Amino acid sequence: MNQMMCPRGLEGGADMTDPDCVFCKIIAGRIPSFKVYEDDRNFAFLDISPFEKGHVLVVPKFHTAFLTDLPQEVLFPFTVAVQNVAAMLLKKLPCDGFNLVQNNGKCATQAVPHVHFHVVPRWNGRVINWIPIKYDSQDELAATCRRITS
Ligand code: ZN
Repeated sequence: MNQMMCPRGLEGGADMTDPDCVFCKIIAGRIPSFKVYEDDRNFAFLDISPFEKGHVLVVPKFHTAFLTDLPQEVLFPFTVAVQNVAAMLLKKLPCDGFNLVQNNGKCATQAVPHVHFHVVPRWNGRVINWIPIKYDSQDELAATCRRITS
């Protein structure tokens, strides 16, 4: 087996998850989420404290805190997943643009130590907001999820 193409932990090796990690629990379905995207190596769900409604978190199914610790074999499909999710937001919300935010370390305001990209939808003529807001209800979260995934 080619170790470059199949790093330890990805296929049949060690489990690259952390049982105490909130995002690993979400990926495993042990904490409910509003999933908008999943492939064999990545998972994406609505941020429940978004900068804008439709703000999505994209995570690799590989537990590590910093982007710099991701094996390249994980990083490349992860960035493609981020691109796919951004394209979904542009088309389905729809939004006019988006921010990608990727924090590494508490000093950089990383709240969950599992690598993730924030994909934040933006609209022309709207003031950019970096302060978390709330959805009005679970129904609004579910409706937003349905709109993105329809
Ligand atoms: Zn994790």
